Amino acid sequence: MKCKKCSDVAIIHLRQHNASYCSKHFVDYFERRVENTINEYSMFGKNSRVLVAVSGGKDSMTLWYVLTKLGYKADGLIIDVGTTNIQLDSLSEFAKKMGSQLKFVDIKEFFEGLTVPQIARLLKRPTCSICGSVRRYLMNKIALENGYDVLVTGHNLDDEVSFLLGNLLSWNTGYLQRQAPFMPKTHQKLVAKAKPLVWLTEKEIYTYALLNNIPFQDEKCPFSKDASSLRYKSVLNNLEVSQPGTKLRFYKQFQRSQLFKNDNVELKECCLCGYPTTSEKCSFCRMRERVKDALGKQKD
Ligand SMILES: [Zn+2]
Ligand SMILES: [Zn+2]
Repeated sequence: MKCKKCSDVAIIHLRQHNASYCSKHFVDYFERRVENTINEYSMFGKNSRVLVAVSGGKDSMTLWYVLTKLGYKADGLIIDVGTTNIQLDSLSEFAKKMGSQLKFVDIKEFFEGLTVPQIARLLKRPTCSICGSVRRYLMNKIALENGYDVLVTGHNLDDEVSFLLGNLLSWNTGYLQRQAPFMPKTHQKLVAKAKPLVWLTEKEIYTYALLNNIPFQDEKCPFSKDASSLRYKSVLNNLEVSQPGTKLRFYKQFQRSQLFKNDNVELKECCLCGYPTTSEKCSFCRMRERVKDALGKQKD
């Protein structure tokens, strides 16, 4: 197998593009693709202040690295929810090497010293739903309060198509409306959100991370038992083997189709924190109250 560009020995074959690359030309291809995704959906520019939601896993670490390498001003944000062991020292060192800042937030500060798994147990709710809602709220709040223009996450093509398939199978139109590579700012207290890795697969990101010595941890959360998303990924991987390019086509055509246009829901401001919500109080503030109540009852 030879590189499409220079005829050196190829290290990767990308069936969806019918192309093989040596390490140098794979890195070039990867970076061009990230840049093209950013431009295609007008996500942000070289002068925008970008905040990367970092988990320590390969996707978010690669995203942070590649944005910095491409000349974007990207800082990292890590939220400790208490589900994984965060290696703060190595993350800080990584940030320093890239000339970026790392912001750190511990959710215990907001919930009477409790972590997400402890809150879930106390309120008898699923850990993943608590975790998702707490993260979404804090990422937006921190990005806004620190003057960032856009919050970016490391979702890749495999994540996106498995989510798409799952939500199409049950016609979750609400979720489908919000599944865009770029969500512009629609409210003064909501930051824009972007996913610059949506045109790249897990395999491509993993290869890029290894070639560039990007440090990362296994990102599997011990609480995530999302077997259905793994099943969808395996169905899509099988399709991809017999029909290369299926994932990309499925994703891009969905974005083009505009089938599920976002009808703007009326947003109010939370009576406690002022952040946008569809009800009187936002779910974050309600959760904080319920934690306080439940702890108070334990003491009685
Ligand atoms: Zn080459
Ligand atoms: Zn609130």
